[in-house]
Amino acid sequence: MNVHAYAAPAVAEPLAPTVIERRAVGPNDVLIEVTHAGICHSDIHTVRGDWGPQPYPLVPGHEIVGVVAEVGPAVTRHRVGDRVGVGCMVNSCRACANCRAGQEQYCLSGMTPTYGAVDRDGTITQGGYSTHVVADADFVLRVPDSIDPAAAAPLLCAGITTYSPLRRWGAGPGKRVAVVGLGGLGHMAVKLASAMGAEVTVLSQSLKKQEDGLRLGADHYFATSDPDTFTQLAGRFDLIVNTVSASIDVDAHLSLLALDGALVNVGAPAEPLSLDVFSLIGARRSFAGSMIGGIPETQEMLDFCAEHGIGAEVEVIPADRINEAYERVLASDVRYRFVIDTATLR
Ligand code: NAP
Ligand code: ZN
Ligand code: ZN
Repeated sequence: MNVHAYAAPAVAEPLAPTVIERRAVGPNDVLIEVTHAGICHSDIHTVRGDWGPQPYPLVPGHEIVGVVAEVGPAVTRHRVGDRVGVGCMVNSCRACANCRAGQEQYCLSGMTPTYGAVDRDGTITQGGYSTHVVADADFVLRVPDSIDPAAAAPLLCAGITTYSPLRRWGAGPGKRVAVVGLGGLGHMAVKLASAMGAEVTVLSQSLKKQEDGLRLGADHYFATSDPDTFTQLAGRFDLIVNTVSASIDVDAHLSLLALDGALVNVGAPAEPLSLDVFSLIGARRSFAGSMIGGIPETQEMLDFCAEHGIGAEVEVIPADRINEAYERVLASDVRYRFVIDTATLR
């Protein structure tokens, strides 16, 4: 099946309309008519070559929401007409310890990313900036009807990527959580941590988005460009989730952690980060990382969002504004996620 899509033709080149082929619907596959696709900063890192060479042409997009158009004969979890989503992975080995524990993102044989990876059938996966996707039913999520579909799309990456470490490191009542960077991931971290009952602080480069941050659920808002921030907040937080797409001063941020506190990096900049181990030793602190979340936890996050009335703050754009949106994300000029109306791809 040939479908309309938007692809990067080569590294760091502007995306352009194209037509790609989707595989025939297999026994356990779902054909999804995509309605919305979020623009994640990871899409930009990938097509700009920040994370190494990629196969081109490349259709990005791993925050996919749509409606089931067809199911294979073995599919029991999804029906034609259901609202569904696909996130950052479309397959894994399903047999290793991590897969069996529902942590498919850490599959010991390597999970299959939604785009730019070799799929089981040897073809290269292509993402959600497209009118249709075909995905294995086990990697397709149910999107509750109460969440607006445009606002639901970013949950498939930005939502789960922040929900998972917040849960893992115990965000909740009595915990002080800081979120570094108020972009796509950051604004979801604020909403989710606040819904979990934590005391939430935003650490942004400036105070420009302070009003938004407080409206989204933050209790406090500080600018990291102000050196006083780091003296005022020293030793304060139990958990810091760093969502910044560039390098930060890790030691300065570690100094904000209380005894046994953790700085969890979800931001994935091109350059390595470095730290002074004394920043950890002095208060038994941890520096950790976290990658998206498993399929069961992603479903749990979607249901949590439905229960708490949470969606992303989105700016819906037509496909011909994708390149402009990329520039705006790079300039931290996003409130707070661009989402492509994929009907405009036709
Ligand atoms: P985004 O919307 O661009 O948000 C990043 C935010 O970081 C910006 O809004 C900005 O917030 C801050 N920032 C940007 N440049 C900065 C700089 N030079 N110094 C300090 N702060 C800066 O990006 P996103 O989509 O949320 O993604 C964030 C990062 O997470 C990316 O690296 C992405 O690849 C990664 N990611 C990782 C995973 C995972 O599984 N671990 C999943 C998805 C994405 P302020 O304006 O508030 O300062
Ligand atoms: Zn992403
Ligand atoms: Zn596995």
